[in-house]
Parts: sequence; structure tokens; C-alpha cells
Amino acid sequence: MITAVYPGSFDPLTHGHLDIVDRAARIFDRVVIAVLENPSKRPLFSTGERVSMIRESLGERPGVEVSTFNGLTIDFARQVGAKVIVRGLRAVSDFESEFQMALMNRRLEPEVTTVFIPTSLRHLFLSSSLIKELAEFGGDIAEFVPANVVGPLKQRLTREQQHEHP
Ligand code: ADP
Repeated sequence: MITAVYPGSFDPLTHGHLDIVDRAARIFDRVVIAVLENPSKRPLFSTGERVSMIRESLGERPGVEVSTFNGLTIDFARQVGAKVIVRGLRAVSDFESEFQMALMNRRLEPEVTTVFIPTSLRHLFLSSSLIKELAEFGGDIAEFVPANVVGPLKQRLTREQQHEHP
């Protein structure tokens, strides 16, 4: 039984993330999506909101769970008995920092291996931050994020704009 942790901010979840989840779930017995509680990153959605949106988007996906964590990913991996950390890779620009993190994690815990899953071509340029920008300027985000994320994302960004420009 191999457990994999898929850590990230997921602020918010996109089809790119879901694609990685589905492909990881085909390889590993159990996939734990680990939502990072990182207030210093000033997330648009609270950890609780991100977790419920992910749960809703997942629907029936056996073997896939959602959890939150703070601190080191490797500590969380140990906690849930994971032997694998899954990360998605998009452009070459992702590579350097991801490689650094993987090497550091390996040093901290040699029993846990980072596995990179390359993005699908259609998700190559998809990122949570780009989606937030697109939504902020009224772009159509429906094809990039799960249906249940569209409403909250539009709502939240409109509210943020009102705060910034009252
Ligand atoms: P983080 O802040 O940890 O980068 P993200 O939520 O942005 O959190 O991403 C979590 C993981 O999902 C990372 O491994 C990232 O590379 C991957 N990811 C994000 N968007 C995509 C995408 N469009 N295709 C493939 N992987 C992706």
C-alpha cells in the first residue's frame, strides 16, 4: 500500500491540479492532497474554504483524501505514512526550485521520494495566480477551474476590488 502526498497552496484548485491528482491516483493506492496553511502567502481563500472546495470538486474519487498541514512537507508525509511526495511540473521554470525542494526533502528523509508528474499540454500555462488575475479582470475562468470554484472566485475577487477601491 503506497501513500502519496500532493502538497500545495491550491488557492484555488484548478483543472491542472485535478489532472495531477487523477494521474497520481492511478499509480498510488492512496493520495493525500495536503493544503498548506500559509498565512504569510496571503491566500485568497482560507484553508477551510480551500479544503471544502477541493472536497466538493473531487466528488467520488476513491483513494483520494484532503488534509491541511503547516510546517515541513516531509513531517506531514511521515505523519500520514507516505513514501512519495507528488509535484506537478509545468515549464522549465518550475524545475529549479522543485529540484531543490526534492533534494532537501530527500536529505531530511531518504525514505520519501519526490515524484514529478509532467503537466498535460492543455494545462501547461495554467496556474492559480494566473486564474486569479484573469478572474479579477472579468475573464472567463470556467474552462480552467472546477464548476464549484467559479462562483466563489468571482465573488471573492469582486469583494477584494471593492475593498481596494471603495
Ligand atoms: P505551491 O504554492 O506549492 O506551488 P500550487 O497550488 O501552486 O502550490 O501547486 C501545487 C502543485 O501543483 C505544484 O507541484 C505545482 O507545480 C502543481 N501544479 C499547479 N498547476 C499545475 C498545472 N497546471 N499542471 C500541472 N501541475 C500543476
